[in-house]
Amino acid sequence: MKHLLLISTGGTISCLKDTDGSLKPALSGSALANEVPELKALCSLSVLPLFELDSTNVQPEEWVTIAEAVNQNLDRYDGIIISHGTDTMAYTAAALSFILQNVKKPVILTGSQHPITEPDSDGRKNLPDAARVAAASDFPGVYIVFDGDIIKGTAASKIDTKHNHAFQSITEPRAGCVRSDGAVVFENPIPVTSQPYTFCPKLNPNVLLLKLYPGFRPEILSSLILPGKEPIYPAVILETFGAGGIPFHNRNLLPVITSLIAADVRIYCKSMCLYGGSDLSVYEVGAEAEKAGVKNLGNITTETALAKIMWELGQKS
Ligand code: ASP
Repeated sequence: MKHLLLISTGGTISCLKDTDGSLKPALSGSALANEVPELKALCSLSVLPLFELDSTNVQPEEWVTIAEAVNQNLDRYDGIIISHGTDTMAYTAAALSFILQNVKKPVILTGSQHPITEPDSDGRKNLPDAARVAAASDFPGVYIVFDGDIIKGTAASKIDTKHNHAFQSITEPRAGCVRSDGAVVFENPIPVTSQPYTFCPKLNPNVLLLKLYPGFRPEILSSLILPGKEPIYPAVILETFGAGGIPFHNRNLLPVITSLIAADVRIYCKSMCLYGGSDLSVYEVGAEAEKAGVKNLGNITTETALAKIMWELGQKS
């Protein structure tokens, strides 16, 4: 029987109703495991209660704390499960995918839309499914397991605030699934590599993420450079229109982008559309942005774009 570690971090799966009726993370890992007796038949499970946070309160510092807990325990377990709130789970999954470079064991994030103490909670399926995938261990890497889907840590976005199918694999087909009979099927796994595992936890959280919209004013970008001071953000990710358009007619953004780049601020772009990614060569509004020095992140989720740039900046400091 495989030996797995459950690292609990909070989220709806662990919530109880507070006196005002709002949901508040309260149950730690062993209480979660006790709610799902089925887990005992699937694996030998140890528990590490890390924190009890709504994932709204999970920030880059918590990504590093989670990554350190994984890194310290990798040698002792066949796989790691992380219970986590759904709201920022895709950000954490993306960050762990960069921090735990070429990890050789499964690191599986899961959670639920309904507290596990509710009899029909989706957590009662998601937690054992995560254990099934972690115990299968044929395909190492960081994944989200949710509502039967196995999704690469760099491909997921939360797409629904209510229904059990909260996550979708956006930038590529899902990695696999857990069938209703419990069989784990990999369809598009993270390629297994002979590159060594490296723990790279340095992040620079000073990345600004902005979504363009009709009427967006260039002044907001000018305010990032204060005379005689370092830029507030060394990198900006713009969620741009369609295949990557940045306005240059009314409210022309290109002059301020040019001055930010001259001040050593990196300007990245990605499409605000969920599917298809950006290609700056398609339209003049993209080609002009590229000439101004905007770097295209291509087909990438917002969550992965943010984690990737924070991680890349961190490697340089
Ligand atoms: N607000 C919760 C969280 O992200 C939502 C959930 O877990 O489904 O922690």
